[in-house]
Amino acid sequence: MCAEYDVIVCGAGPAGICAALQAARCGAKTALIEKNGICGGALTLSNINMPGVFNAWGKQIIAGIGWELLVKTWNITGSPLPDLSRPEFSYAQPNVNRLVFASVVDDAMADAGVDVRFHTMIASARFETDIWHLQLCEKDGLVSVTGSMVIDCTGDANVSYMAGFPCKQTESPQPGTLSMYFHNFDPAALDFEDLNRRFNNAVESGEVLAEDMGWHRPSFFFEHGRNSNHITGFNAADSRGKTKMEIAGRRSLMRMLRFIRSCPGLENAEFRMSSAECGIRETRQIIGEYTITEDDYLNGKRYADGICNAFYPIDIHMDKGIFRKHLEKGVVPSVPLRALIPQNSKNFLVAGRCLSADRPAFSALRVQAPCMAMGQAAGAAAVLAHNCQCDVRDIPLDKLRSLLQRHGAILPELPCKH
Ligand SMILES: Cc1cc2nc3c(=O)[nH]c(=O)nc-3n(C[C@H](O)[C@H](O)[C@H](O)COP(=O)(O)OP(=O)(O)OC[C@H]3O[C@@H](n4cnc5c(N)ncnc54)[C@H](O)[C@@H]3O)c2cc1C
Repeated sequence: MCAEYDVIVCGAGPAGICAALQAARCGAKTALIEKNGICGGALTLSNINMPGVFNAWGKQIIAGIGWELLVKTWNITGSPLPDLSRPEFSYAQPNVNRLVFASVVDDAMADAGVDVRFHTMIASARFETDIWHLQLCEKDGLVSVTGSMVIDCTGDANVSYMAGFPCKQTESPQPGTLSMYFHNFDPAALDFEDLNRRFNNAVESGEVLAEDMGWHRPSFFFEHGRNSNHITGFNAADSRGKTKMEIAGRRSLMRMLRFIRSCPGLENAEFRMSSAECGIRETRQIIGEYTITEDDYLNGKRYADGICNAFYPIDIHMDKGIFRKHLEKGVVPSVPLRALIPQNSKNFLVAGRCLSADRPAFSALRVQAPCMAMGQAAGAAAVLAHNCQCDVRDIPLDKLRSLLQRHGAILPELPCKH
């Protein structure tokens, strides 16, 4: 039997969970399709549990469903809430316990009545007779579902690509990162200068690659016992490319393990796995009705269809380092709804890191707080489109803003009238 939904959200990362919860809390019959067995995307699967950034220049600029889930998590773990009112330039990104966060999300999904379908991938997507037909690949085989609206939150624009909408991919995407911890050593007993020298020698001899260390100095790595490698040169948007990246990630860790154990004071060091899969920075994005540019981002451009704020430096990871450009004082960038609507699409939205933006703007907008806010906005827009029986381009923007406000979101300022 073919299940029928009002809204189908694909991908349960920071964007997808907020999209699904917002749609279901507005009364839409909602499905959430996720290839893994846990919600949270990179936050839970890749150990990127420093969600940010919710504040800018002394005030909170992103709230809503994502913030609500994080506050619940911090309350359960007894962690202090971040101080978002610090007036100086600060990126508040406190850690969140991944297991507790995922459980909080499970409960929220159940309360909202979202039909969560783990261990499921999208096999095909076609729009026919005004309705989306998706084939899903489940453990026991293919099943068909229909939806009035689809929201692609796969991070890799997988559904947009399958549906045939224009997408773009750079030839040299930013590297991924496979996180791990290493322990069983005494940092106080280490000679960091000697370790740095040994690491540089090991790079020269080919024993390790410079990018096995990522962008941190070796001393950071040794002191904190947490890596930040750069796994470069793979197109992780599709299964074949992602497979190659996962294997390359584990090879990078093994090179480091062999090297570390050859160093004085680290002979008994052990690795603790912290990520089920590589964290992905950049793969495929849609070409939307609007593409956010670097200038838009740095100048804090306002849009009539603005749906959420954002705050993060331009942050492009290269093979051996990072290119960063900070926002000027007072600037708070925002995201228009059109950046979530693929060109030539109907009844379809994306949210999260597959939005339409140029490379520098994308590098800042991909962090979790704006992804959560985009997801919530996409969920609300999808419900309005479904209820009005109109395309998402034609929904009344004032209704979208007031719906989001009722659900706790903070909206960006509108452009000046003159
Ligand atoms: C190393 C690294 C460090 C980072 N540091 C920070 C940081 O400090 N703070 C911060 O806020 N952000 C950080 N980020 C960025 C941030 O984590 C991601 O950009 C963000 O998680 C994107 O959210 P998303 O919901 O768009 O996608 P994702 O988190 O990638 O989630 C996508 C979800 O969709 C699922 N999925 C994918 N394809 C399919 C499919 N075909 N079918 C079904 N399900 C599918 C995935 O399993 C996943 O659950 C970092 C990223 C990396 C890689």
